[in-house]
Amino acid sequence: MGFRKIYDLYNWDDTINRLSSISDTDVLTALEKTTKRTAFDFLALISPNASKYLEKMACMSQQITQRRFGKTIQMYIPMYLSNMCQNICTYCGFSFENKIDRLTLNEEQILKEVEVIKSFGYDHILLVTGEVNKKVSVEYFEKVILLLKNYFSHISIEVQPLQKEEYERLIAAGLNSVLVYQETYHEEHYKLYHLKGKKTNFNFRLDTPDRLGNAGIYKIGIGALLGLENWRVDSFFVALHLDYLEKMYWKTKFSISFPRLRPAVGCQQPAHPISDKDLVQLICAYRLLNENIEISLSSRENPYFRDNVFKLGITHMSAGSKTDPGGYALKAHALEQFEVSDDRTPQQVANAIKSGGYEVVWKDWDRSLITQ
Ligand code: SF4
Repeated sequence: MGFRKIYDLYNWDDTINRLSSISDTDVLTALEKTTKRTAFDFLALISPNASKYLEKMACMSQQITQRRFGKTIQMYIPMYLSNMCQNICTYCGFSFENKIDRLTLNEEQILKEVEVIKSFGYDHILLVTGEVNKKVSVEYFEKVILLLKNYFSHISIEVQPLQKEEYERLIAAGLNSVLVYQETYHEEHYKLYHLKGKKTNFNFRLDTPDRLGNAGIYKIGIGALLGLENWRVDSFFVALHLDYLEKMYWKTKFSISFPRLRPAVGCQQPAHPISDKDLVQLICAYRLLNENIEISLSSRENPYFRDNVFKLGITHMSAGSKTDPGGYALKAHALEQFEVSDDRTPQQVANAIKSGGYEVVWKDWDRSLITQ
């Protein structure tokens, strides 16, 4: 039936009203629950009223995460393959109307990037592109995945939403995970941020995790771009979406990310900024909602924040990230999607994680686990 049917049962403004009426009793009931928490418990835990219980939430979130994942952080790194894009999104440096140099990496350039990335120790890679159907096509993705599976045991992509059959083709080539963020679940306001191109189609994006689940992907990452709209309401819809997907595609794993709007060439500032404290509350609330979900914290966040927060529910972190195609070997930084906040090297971040008493995991998966 698709998530849209669930989505239509809820209303943005009603959710804002519900948030303002959440009492201490509602928060404590959600906190003390011994059965699986619902999206409404989650809403109570991200409400303004729950912020005074943040310390308790953080302790619980840390305990649950350690029990389920151990004291480990898995490392991944993005590789930007192309900054070409035919869409206009008001918050992105790659937006079509931005006058920046455009580049799509060829095989030789990709292998130069791989050499640098492998020297850092990475085995999990996230491939990122803008949306240009011809230049950065399914054929291009397939070629890159076939090339890179000789170097990486886990390959994720964050690219334009595709059709189910196209995902099946990429899974056969060696694709493991797909990240697709709705950006905002506010359907009316979605149009204000997505002015041109295929990304203007709210429903096609909303249905993408369903197409992935039906294609049999190993892992799906969802989330909202924090800063565009009311982060509490957007996160409630993410929680609903996650709950729906887990029930529908129970063989698939899921991850959540918390991208906060970052400065980029020609882009808007966050109209609804989310504070550091709010972000900690959100991370803990997701962990209390779902023990199994993987939670990522990228280098969009600054070193101080990352070093203090990673123990509270995070399972995956990136480090040393470049957000421009060729950023590791070609070093053409004028092409970047947004500025990273944590520009430490992977080794420096790994050392910070280790000094916090956690194990840094560069590889936890091998293709041979699923091939005969
Ligand atoms: S967010 Fe994605 S689709 Fe939109 S402009 Fe940036 S790269 Fe293109």
